[in-house]
Amino acid sequence: MTEGREELSEMKEYSTLNSGSNLEKLLAKGEFVVTGELGPPKSVDPEKLDEKIKALRGAVDAVNITDNQTAIVRISSIGTGVYALKAGLEPVIQMTCRDRNRLAIQADIMGASLHGLKNLLCLSGDHQVFGNHPQAKHVYDMDSIQLIKMISDMCDKGIFQCGEEIKNNKKSDVKAPKYFIGGAANPFVEPFEWRVNRLEKKIAAGVDFIQTQCIYDMDIFSRWMEQVVARGLHKKVKILAGVTPIRSFGMAKYMKNSVAGVIVPDPLLKRIADAEDPKAEGLAVCSEQIRAFRNMEGVAGVHIMAIEWEKAVRGIVDNAGLLPRPAV
Ligand SMILES: Cc1cc2nc3c(=O)[nH]c(=O)nc-3n(C[C@H](O)[C@H](O)[C@H](O)COP(=O)(O)OP(=O)(O)OC[C@H]3O[C@@H](n4cnc5c(N)ncnc54)[C@H](O)[C@@H]3O)c2cc1C
Repeated sequence: MTEGREELSEMKEYSTLNSGSNLEKLLAKGEFVVTGELGPPKSVDPEKLDEKIKALRGAVDAVNITDNQTAIVRISSIGTGVYALKAGLEPVIQMTCRDRNRLAIQADIMGASLHGLKNLLCLSGDHQVFGNHPQAKHVYDMDSIQLIKMISDMCDKGIFQCGEEIKNNKKSDVKAPKYFIGGAANPFVEPFEWRVNRLEKKIAAGVDFIQTQCIYDMDIFSRWMEQVVARGLHKKVKILAGVTPIRSFGMAKYMKNSVAGVIVPDPLLKRIADAEDPKAEGLAVCSEQIRAFRNMEGVAGVHIMAIEWEKAVRGIVDNAGLLPRPAV
């Protein structure tokens, strides 16, 4: 921890604004940003992808494109990101440590940069035993903090992870990729008091923005944010609070009992159970949470992970009073 704190005092002040990312520009302007999640389909039929893109266009400022989420194989995040960029969205590509070693990650993120992608979320990744190829060999050549550091060094110092300079053959300045670098945080894993330390390490490694695990327990999240603010970390990184709308009582129970690192408090479970229309209630909860985040010190925006329910996002954002989205 001491090591992290020393590094923190030397780290760059937010924000460098050199990635060209619209998400970065909006956050720098002090806008309360809205990002949404798009899960790539499990086939190359563009129709489903087009529907998801249509649902999110204009409803959010940027769209996170998952990387084989829940360890189930899908169209790649970068491939979908290029497609979404051409369709007028601002993609946030996601990269897990599960499927690639440092050679493949560096190659892929340079390739993505060449195609104009500017935001990157660095993750450990769900373990493959939970997915549809449980016998796959995982990689985990590095963890999420090392991944953030590697990307940050490529972007800011212009070096590969091995220390070699990223050069071109001409006098042009275009050499290293430029990314607005994100990471995840989960305030809901015990011991709670240690979670903010992990955030601090990600900041020291060079992360620019954070998207949290989905929040249902507002008390625990508020306490985590209090620690973040007390340490001044909200001035070093932009924190987007994660929400996932509940569609049914069954889903609420599943999130509570079967998803590691997610806490669903009993009163919320009861509210969904007692609701005449659980789906509408779940959407209402989501918009209420977003309104609460807008008044919470240190929260710079919201990340809506409407799992396979991208169509719900516009209504949630509207009910939270956040439409239309601001121009860059
Ligand atoms: C916004 C968001 C988007 C996500 N998108 C995806 C996605 O697209 N694809 C996907 O597969 N998953 C995705 N996930 C799931 C996520 O990768 C897993 O929940 C993972 O367990 C946490 O990832 P992280 O990067 O936040 O974790 P980390 O901060 O890296 O922590 C993961 C946990 O493992 C521990 N840990 C980390 N590294 C090590 C190590 N080297 N040795 C021992 N313990 C270690 C940490 O202490 C922590 O408890 C997403 C999660 C979030 C919050």
